[in-house]
Amino acid sequence: MSRLIGRASAPIIIGGRERPVDQTRWHAVLDPAHRDNVVGSVALANERDVDDAVAAAAEALPAWRGMTAAERAEAMRDAAEAIEVDLEARARLLTREHGKVLAEAKHDASGAVRILRYYAQLAERFDRPEVSEDQRGRIVRTRRPYGVVAVIVPWNAPIYLGFLMLAPALLAGNTVVVKPAEEVPLALADTLRLLVRSLPPGVVNVVPGMGAETGRALSLHPDVRKISFTGSIATGQSLMRAAATTIKGLSLELGGNDPAVILEGARITDELIAELVRGVYAGSGQICYNVKRIYVHRSHHDDLVTRFTDAVNDIVVGDGLDPASTMGPVTTEAQFRYVTELLERTQSLGGRVRTVGRKLDPAGWDNGLFILPSVVTGVASDEEIVVKEQFGPTVPILPFDEEDEAVALANATEYGLAASVWDEDVTNAFGVADRIDAGSVFVNIHRIGASDVSMEFGGVKQSGVGRGHAWAAVEESSQTKVLAQRCDLSSYGPRLPLVDDGPLHG
Ligand code: ADP
Repeated sequence: MSRLIGRASAPIIIGGRERPVDQTRWHAVLDPAHRDNVVGSVALANERDVDDAVAAAAEALPAWRGMTAAERAEAMRDAAEAIEVDLEARARLLTREHGKVLAEAKHDASGAVRILRYYAQLAERFDRPEVSEDQRGRIVRTRRPYGVVAVIVPWNAPIYLGFLMLAPALLAGNTVVVKPAEEVPLALADTLRLLVRSLPPGVVNVVPGMGAETGRALSLHPDVRKISFTGSIATGQSLMRAAATTIKGLSLELGGNDPAVILEGARITDELIAELVRGVYAGSGQICYNVKRIYVHRSHHDDLVTRFTDAVNDIVVGDGLDPASTMGPVTTEAQFRYVTELLERTQSLGGRVRTVGRKLDPAGWDNGLFILPSVVTGVASDEEIVVKEQFGPTVPILPFDEEDEAVALANATEYGLAASVWDEDVTNAFGVADRIDAGSVFVNIHRIGASDVSMEFGGVKQSGVGRGHAWAAVEESSQTKVLAQRCDLSSYGPRLPLVDDGPLHG
């Protein structure tokens, strides 16, 4: 596993230059659809590399922070233009290292372009100070970057999620050290190479590597002022501890266990079924806001289960580069093991697991991390498959009788990323949506595209802190700075003596 193999690579990039590392520090990236194929290799950055990357980011900071956001936005637009060329090749590379079907990989790869352009157009708002004046003086409110920001990226949608953290940080004048996930680093690395070339050296640095080592070194570095992270709750907890060491800013978008609540007033149409199938099985169920549990009014339960299972049966599982595949493998061995064992445990507890769908290439099946889609019924509301995030191509369906009960079930986990409510009566759906504990609740839809870069996104409860996307992410990437001229404070009452015997207020 430690030979430099394959043509694609995810190198360490510091101060605008790729850092050579010896062969023992390259790790093979495998194709989850053909485990004997090596797609490329990822460099494993060590603590020294992390120190140097943070130093390069700190050195680039004064000049980058000193530019106007409009000037930074120009560089971001140039980067978007460079990234837009050859998107197809990067999407194909992403499919090979991740497994997702090509259409999904294209959405991910092109996300970098859309997101950079979206944030570039917020420059004017960033540059415009808020000024207020009254008889007490003049107050100027501006926004200032944190400084060096660590951006830690997950493997499930590395380009899209990486740029959702990067672009607002750059607009706000931060310099960045990015840590790609070791499992799916290659297409992101190719995209970051183009970004790095469009920016002054050191503004974006890249330290791929193993989370526990590289990620820890980065998150504990005293000169990192903020951590932006998308990934698991366990890592989020360890980052909170790391952030405490030097009181770093922190934005965490963590796991989700999204409920879809299908109310009595919903009509079970083919369209609803198709939407739900997309919502559950896109990305082989490995998207933070996939539908992960379905609660359906008892009057629709049997009809929904039958028609949903029939539709899931049309899924063709295979290599994501083959246009005949509609779902790829899962991405990592760990995920493969967790999902297959979870389904076995569910069955042993008496749950019914209907495994459906078609294998595109039965002969090559065991060489990939393929899992046929399944539909689970007959489980209790507190079972593991309901209360934990399965992150795989399966979903439990549970009946309910009353709306209040559905809301209680939806809220009965430690997660709160997104959710959906389905009803012909949209006003009623909005009312129920408002009672569900989640950062986003969609009405009559629940899939990739339901949220986008212009809609604030983030979790409640253990699904995260802070908000990404939209202007909110620029606020997350910067801090308000107040410049205040105070002429006359007499309206605050009698003048205080210079030295007071009373309690002092800090
Ligand atoms: P997943 O369980 O989906 O792999 P993780 O939260 O483990 O999600 O990984 C998301 C990102 O966080 C990856 O880039 C990973 O390398 C990194 N990471 C993992 N552990 C740590 C850690 N202790 N500190 C910092 N980053 C970490």
